[in-house]
Amino acid sequence: MPRALVIGGSLGGLLAAHLLRSIGWDAVVFERNSEELASRGVGLGTHPQLGAALRRAGIAFDETMGIRVPKVICLDREGRVIVAQPTTRVMSGWARLYRALRDALPAQDYRLGNVLQRIEQDPDGVTAIFADGTRERGELLVGADGVRSTVREQFLPQAQPLYAGYVAWRGVLDEAQVPPAIRREIFDLYTICLPEGEQLIGYPVPGRDNDTAVGRRSYNIVWYRPIDAQTLAGMCTDAAGTRHPGGIPPPLIRAEVIAHVKADAERQLPPQIAEIFVRTVPFFQPIFDLESPRLVFGRVVLAGDAAFVVRPHVGAGATKAAVDAVTLADCLHETGDDIARALSRYEAAQRKFGSAMVALAREQGAYLSAQLKPRHERTAGERDRDIGAILHAHGTRSDQVGAMVAARGIDARI
Ligand SMILES: Cc1cc2nc3c(=O)[nH]c(=O)nc-3n(C[C@H](O)[C@H](O)[C@H](O)COP(=O)(O)OP(=O)(O)OC[C@H]3O[C@@H](n4cnc5c(N)ncnc54)[C@H](O)[C@@H]3O)c2cc1C
Repeated sequence: MPRALVIGGSLGGLLAAHLLRSIGWDAVVFERNSEELASRGVGLGTHPQLGAALRRAGIAFDETMGIRVPKVICLDREGRVIVAQPTTRVMSGWARLYRALRDALPAQDYRLGNVLQRIEQDPDGVTAIFADGTRERGELLVGADGVRSTVREQFLPQAQPLYAGYVAWRGVLDEAQVPPAIRREIFDLYTICLPEGEQLIGYPVPGRDNDTAVGRRSYNIVWYRPIDAQTLAGMCTDAAGTRHPGGIPPPLIRAEVIAHVKADAERQLPPQIAEIFVRTVPFFQPIFDLESPRLVFGRVVLAGDAAFVVRPHVGAGATKAAVDAVTLADCLHETGDDIARALSRYEAAQRKFGSAMVALAREQGAYLSAQLKPRHERTAGERDRDIGAILHAHGTRSDQVGAMVAARGIDARI
């Protein structure tokens, strides 16, 4: 049985391991963290292709996997509904998907505390060398080690994430802590707010313990705010003066940075959303674009965020990782495990797909990126937002992702 070494134990790595196992490979996941990744309880959008990939991994995409939102609304600063339209999205959470994928993998094939350091290859196989000196050998290595990928750094040091000019402030609140009137009014809906130069979305997600039952869910806020690189550097400096250029761990964000964003929330957001946001312990993530010009290096292949980072507007980071995993498995299966041929087909399909996804998300975030330019240098679309266009983009996202999947020229079963 051929063996795949999968580097990275988040959604991308788990999806790749499951799909490879579904075609008869032995796939082992190596994750650098020494403890279970269980604490990233933030919301995550889904698309039908993610559900299809999970089903191929033997995991049901049922009502426990996320919360179906029936309507999208846009609130003005005073909290009035200015637009409302039906929607059909299912909002899940990183932790919910992680749990399902992790539980379905045999414990001995998910190895914590393995920090990949470098990779060696020869005509017969690939060797992963870990920080403690351990060596593991396989026929294929999948680099699913995220935006700061060690695998990509070894083969493509020039491919670096580019800061998009804004951050996403995120806050999650237990349903029981949302004031009852606000809960009744907006909790079940997908809410968009457009403060000047900014954008915010709020929606329900599975709660603590991944519960989707009414009363036990959580509310998730993502607030996009343009921040210039210098201010960002200050925000990414902790109380001890240490800088965290790629993004500061949430517990290290300085108290005054949090106090500042909460004060802004009370001034700039609709009252319902501000009331929720100020009750959270918010944190921020700088938004990046990343496009890898190559995905295959001999027996090594990039997948998920290690290959392409899609801005969150399309809500499709996990879906893209799922499409990568399905395509890789299908290419290997269809070529009878001829690794060179399979990987070349994978690269042709997923470079096209990844670039199209990055472009779509960049287009949807263009208004936010443009806010750092002087107003007179912005195009009309960058100065004024068209709510209709935002709602249209929201409504057609899954169709656009589906069209991109179909356009890859691979007969994958998704
Ligand atoms: C603000 C924001 C909102 C988002 N919203 C959505 C959304 O609504 N919907 C959606 O689908 N996606 C969303 N995403 C993206 C989504 O979280 C990721 O795209 C998805 O989890 C796939 O990532 P991944 O597994 O490839 O990488 P990651 O999740 O980054 O995981 C990489 C893993 O590799 C491990 N690792 C790194 N280096 C090494 C090493 N040297 N050795 C061993 N292990 C290593 C890391 O510890 C980590 O566990 C959002 C992202 C952001 C920033």
